Amino acid sequence: MRFSYQRFGGLNYSIYAGGLFVRVLQLQDVPHLILKEKDILTTFQVSIFIFRELTVNKRKNKEPLRGGKALKTDVFIAGGGVGGLALAAKLASRGVHVTIAEQLTRESPVYKGELLQPKTLAILDRLGVLDQVETCGHPIDQLRFQEIYRRKGSTPEEINLTELNYSRVASMYDHALMVPHEKTKSILRDKGKTYEEYYHYLHGARFLGFENGMAKVKQNRKNLYIEAQVYIGAEGRRSPTRNAMNVHVKRHDYNHHFLTVTIPRPSDFTKGKIITTASQFLGLFPLPDDKVRTVFLIPAGQYGAIKEKGLDFIYEAYSELEPELSEGVRTLKDWKKIQLMIPYTYHVDHYYAGNLAIIGDAAHTVHPMAGEGMNLAVQDADVLGELLAWCKEEGKPFEENLHYYEDVRKPRVSFLLNLSHLSALVYSLRYEWWRTIRKQAVQRIYDDDQLHVKQMLNISGLGRWDFTILDRAVQGSIFPPRGQKVSDRRQMKYIFSETEDYPWKKVKKG
Ligand SMILES: Cc1cc2nc3c(=O)[nH]c(=O)nc-3n(C[C@H](O)[C@H](O)[C@H](O)COP(=O)(O)OP(=O)(O)OC[C@H]3O[C@@H](n4cnc5c(N)ncnc54)[C@H](O)[C@@H]3O)c2cc1C
Repeated sequence: MRFSYQRFGGLNYSIYAGGLFVRVLQLQDVPHLILKEKDILTTFQVSIFIFRELTVNKRKNKEPLRGGKALKTDVFIAGGGVGGLALAAKLASRGVHVTIAEQLTRESPVYKGELLQPKTLAILDRLGVLDQVETCGHPIDQLRFQEIYRRKGSTPEEINLTELNYSRVASMYDHALMVPHEKTKSILRDKGKTYEEYYHYLHGARFLGFENGMAKVKQNRKNLYIEAQVYIGAEGRRSPTRNAMNVHVKRHDYNHHFLTVTIPRPSDFTKGKIITTASQFLGLFPLPDDKVRTVFLIPAGQYGAIKEKGLDFIYEAYSELEPELSEGVRTLKDWKKIQLMIPYTYHVDHYYAGNLAIIGDAAHTVHPMAGEGMNLAVQDADVLGELLAWCKEEGKPFEENLHYYEDVRKPRVSFLLNLSHLSALVYSLRYEWWRTIRKQAVQRIYDDDQLHVKQMLNISGLGRWDFTILDRAVQGSIFPPRGQKVSDRRQMKYIFSETEDYPWKKVKKG
């Protein structure tokens, strides 16, 4: 096995040295030690002492482990979030030695993405975990968009209701899935562990940066040095790997924030739903076990003032926007369960440098409106994992081929970042006239099949079909909706083929 603590060779020497040490003490007739020549236990204890002196204390001096003393692996991944875990599982499944360092020792209490888009389901299927993920999830085949007038202490007045359906995408992956974030992570982690020869998970291990061309990781207050052929930063928004790559990051902020919390739902409340007034937004995404993830928009900077109003403010808002949840929301007894979510976006100018590369939130973060962040991380992992596995199988240098990863992923991510940004703008302006435009534009997506197919195909991640000026003119009610239905055959042209996902394979064949 290539991956090894090579200092284990030192253990043999120290056992040998320990034996010698005992022998010397015997020869000197040390009175307070009852020594027998065959006292293996004492020999072992002395050996451990010498071994620790030779290795652990040396590390305490913060001297990097050099040459044969570093931990060796093919691929080192900093960060065991959904992106890092998907990449590690894929690499290990293909016989690539991977070491993954995750700083946390237990589940994170912080809410993160739960909506798995169809392309992500396809990737999980190839990893052999889709059945398990489906069992833990709630399928979302439809998103409903409801415009209402909110009425104090009373049921709202509906002014428009429309829907978008994943079934318009010509794929066997025809729905999204709401899965608790930590559940998806634990399924991926367990999958990786099944390839024990190739998979090395270091928990409670914080990646600190690079020293002498090696990754420096702190685990149990000790420094470890890991030597890899390629180093992947999957540490999320604060990424030491990204810092080492000297990339340009420009952050864009929004005029709104979100409050998010999971509450009980009636068992027949099963569709994804977005409820809006001219100034309010409540997103509802059903989870398994009769729960629903709620996302409530607030103006940026208003969190403190709203928190002061207390839970009654939340009870009232939710009940008046969606009366079906008025009972569920009242089970909420502690403000601490509500998480503030501050949306912002950035996209780095390059995804790799030398033998370093970044994936997921380390490379880009997206407005949550289109539910893409976690999906982009898994999709990055899939392309990069396939590339690195191919390099290993074909004996190609990792470093020389990393550009393929950026070539495939950067334009797709830019496209989805833009789509999410536009979706956010649709809900950012708090005027009645704006709501009138939005209501018509969302309704047009349903009425015009080409818009419907494009919207769902694009957010599914399964393909990319750009909107044209004509599309926007139809959406803006300048032209009427087009009558004809988009055939599956026509749509297939825009679904990513294997060659588009993994273009280097075509290069090999050519
Ligand atoms: C409140 C919120 C709501 C969201 N909603 C959605 C949604 O509905 N749909 C969606 O698709 N996405 C959503 N996202 C985004 C989604 O959660 C992220 O895009 C996704 O988790 C990114 O995955 P990642 O693996 O790149 O990073 P992360 O999930 O951030 O994982 C990074 C991991 O690296 C570890 N780490 C960090 N630094 C180090 C270090 N130095 N050493 C070792 N380990 C380290 C962290 O502990 C963490 O486990 C949401 C995010 C937030 C915060």
